[in-house]
Amino acid sequence: MELIDTHLHLQLEHFDEDRDVVVERALAAGVTRMITLATDLKTSEQVIALAERYESVFAAVGVHPTDVHKAAGRDYYEIADLSSHEKVVAIGEIGMDFYWDTSHAREQERAFQLQLEMAADLGLPVAIHNRDAGEAILKVLDFVGDGLPQGVFHCFAENGDYARTVLDKGFHISFTGNLTYKKSELPQVAAEVPLERLLLETDSPFLAPVPKRGKRNEPAYVSYIAEKHAEVRNMSIKALAAATTANAEKLFALPAQPGAHRPQENTVVS
Ligand SMILES: [Zn+2]
Repeated sequence: MELIDTHLHLQLEHFDEDRDVVVERALAAGVTRMITLATDLKTSEQVIALAERYESVFAAVGVHPTDVHKAAGRDYYEIADLSSHEKVVAIGEIGMDFYWDTSHAREQERAFQLQLEMAADLGLPVAIHNRDAGEAILKVLDFVGDGLPQGVFHCFAENGDYARTVLDKGFHISFTGNLTYKKSELPQVAAEVPLERLLLETDSPFLAPVPKRGKRNEPAYVSYIAEKHAEVRNMSIKALAAATTANAEKLFALPAQPGAHRPQENTVVS
């Protein structure tokens, strides 16, 4: 069984003591590929360095909504340049956040729009962060209109109506550990997401799933998210893993995993 953690932050200091071991544990758990996301120019350079160091790690570059007030205009040009690296597979994470930062709404809106258009120009998908800013995000998406890139609403925490709205715009959806919390209503929302639009993520080091809730999250724990999805959809975890892995490979145009055994289409099985 092969899983892909499409959203984590391996560059953060939470992993400074044992980053190699964390990646090893992920691989041992069947997490063959991980996408580590930047939050500003400096971390964009860091995630690329990690992608160069670990074969299984890919990178996303961009400015996070809570960092846009610190970003200079030229940072976006440099990030666009960095995105030509062969292991950069997305622009992210971008979006809007009115939970941590309500004082820079206009800057957030402009940076989000700019990075959406940048991603579309570059032919890269986006990873969208939405915290208490669902309506503001839809406004920007509608403004960009036909020029929208593909992408994923990560750490999805809205209701079913909102899910249908972004699915209609062609986006994928992924849930973090909050899917597994006891009183969460997200499982009902998750069950309604078409399988071909579902991705897996941990958002490590944050939001560890049950039974690791409260601990540092890490990519190996994406299996708990996969298990929960399989449970609410009443399907096998194997089938869930295969489908979400194929979705991630397609959206992020990931190269075939070296060493992975893929049955060849023409092989005759006797
Ligand atoms: Zn994140």
